[in-house]
Amino acid sequence: MSAAVQEVDVVVVGGGPAGEVVAGRCADHGLSTVLVERELVGGECSYWGCIPSKTLLRPGDVLAAARRVPGAAAAVAGPVDVPAALARRDLMTARWDDAGQQRWLAGHGVRLVRGTGRLAGPRRVAVAGGPVLVSRRAVVLATGSSAVLPPVPGLAEVRPWDNRAATAAKEVPARLLVMGGGAVGLELAQAFRRLGSAEVTVVEGTPRLLPREEPFAGEQVLAALTREGVAVRLGTLVASVARAGSDGPVTATLSDGTAVTADELLVAVGRRPATADVGLGTVGLAPGRPVEVDDRMRATGVPEGWLYAIGDCTGRAAFTHMGKYQARVAASALTGGDLTDRAGRDAVPRVTFTDPQVCAVGLTAAAAGDRGLAVRVVDVATGEVPGAYVLGDGAEGTTRLVVDADRGVLVGATITGSGVQELLHSATVAVACRVPLGELRHAVPPFPTVSEVWLHALEALGV
Ligand SMILES: Cc1cc2nc3c(=O)[nH]c(=O)nc-3n(C[C@H](O)[C@H](O)[C@H](O)COP(=O)(O)OP(=O)(O)OC[C@H]3O[C@@H](n4cnc5c(N)ncnc54)[C@H](O)[C@@H]3O)c2cc1C
Repeated sequence: MSAAVQEVDVVVVGGGPAGEVVAGRCADHGLSTVLVERELVGGECSYWGCIPSKTLLRPGDVLAAARRVPGAAAAVAGPVDVPAALARRDLMTARWDDAGQQRWLAGHGVRLVRGTGRLAGPRRVAVAGGPVLVSRRAVVLATGSSAVLPPVPGLAEVRPWDNRAATAAKEVPARLLVMGGGAVGLELAQAFRRLGSAEVTVVEGTPRLLPREEPFAGEQVLAALTREGVAVRLGTLVASVARAGSDGPVTATLSDGTAVTADELLVAVGRRPATADVGLGTVGLAPGRPVEVDDRMRATGVPEGWLYAIGDCTGRAAFTHMGKYQARVAASALTGGDLTDRAGRDAVPRVTFTDPQVCAVGLTAAAAGDRGLAVRVVDVATGEVPGAYVLGDGAEGTTRLVVDADRGVLVGATITGSGVQELLHSATVAVACRVPLGELRHAVPPFPTVSEVWLHALEALGV
């Protein structure tokens, strides 16, 4: 075997949250493990996704929470300290330096190879400018996803912001136009508005925000954004865009014939699996397509079961926590465990970190109906419990439980309100573990917490 060809047990391509977890677990079990990463270990989430976006939202969130509390409101009358907020973002992203993550890998005995990895036939990964790695046990693809740039005339030429430019911004634009009313677009629209953008406009092609969640969720976020001065244009498309000069403002012409001018244009219309250039064709799979996997994360259609895929590149629920769950499933398969993917079909938790937040798990009422379940739905007010009153005035939101009446279990829940993200996990436990409704009566929520909303919801269900 030539020196450039190296044999190891497991080769992981892509060091985002999914790749890191599977590599760490395999190495912990004594498998010789190499992680190939072409940019920063930690991936999109750590540097241009979850972490910076939530950090940019946090100052505005805290101020809004304080403004709801008589006695605190007067103390927070001023604006956000933007330089400090951006400095905090820089700290939280480790200034786009992955030294800490490299130490973590080393601590677990994972060998890091920097470079772009590509499948080069069964069990082989060729690293550009580096070794050819041959895996004895498995290759795990964890190459993530990239932002979609829709084919709008003029869009590429105006150098729009994607999630990377937005989350790494060095200043707050006076006017921001956001294409896309999903979680990424709405979070960043609210973050920049609260950081001081004077004009923020969101343009969404479908008739509602957060189109995949319960309809009331998008309506409540729409009302809150409108109150804060964010303009939202629903059922509207960006038809064309042009920038004045090389650095001037961008003007977008919309499908209704109106125009919006902004200093920056953020494109947040979705992501596609990063599989176009990873050599899928060399093992009989279609380049550019999501890698389809079974419930142990083994790629389907690849003989001998040596190829695995996890995280965004599978085209499944594109969340860090789901990528890490899939990593635990794949690691279990590779180390003799018995974990299979069940949550991916029935119990995906998701949080849109706007204010109000939209927290959901499992099926919406419509999705449960589409599956032919005997659906029962109850809605109660998230804010009408003493725990919410204690948190401040104007607590709003809705808690919806979706029940499969035949089996007597929850199949979905949506909780909206301010700062309710930690409440979601109680619903996730009930949905993922298929807790019979009657058993939930014995899960007593402490007083005075917002969790008492469970009592109202169970009462409304007659449990
Ligand atoms: C603005 C924004 C906010 C988000 N907020 C949240 C949130 O709050 N919560 C949440 O759960 N999710 C959130 N997400 C989604 C989350 O970031 C992704 O689901 C997560 O990063 C996917 O992890 P991954 O490991 O599959 O891929 P990635 O994080 O994309 O990592 C893939 C890695 O593979 C590397 N790579 C790719 N191809 C190769 C190759 N050929 N060779 C070597 N290396 C390669 C890349 O450089 C990258 O480091 C957000 C996303 C965005 C854009």
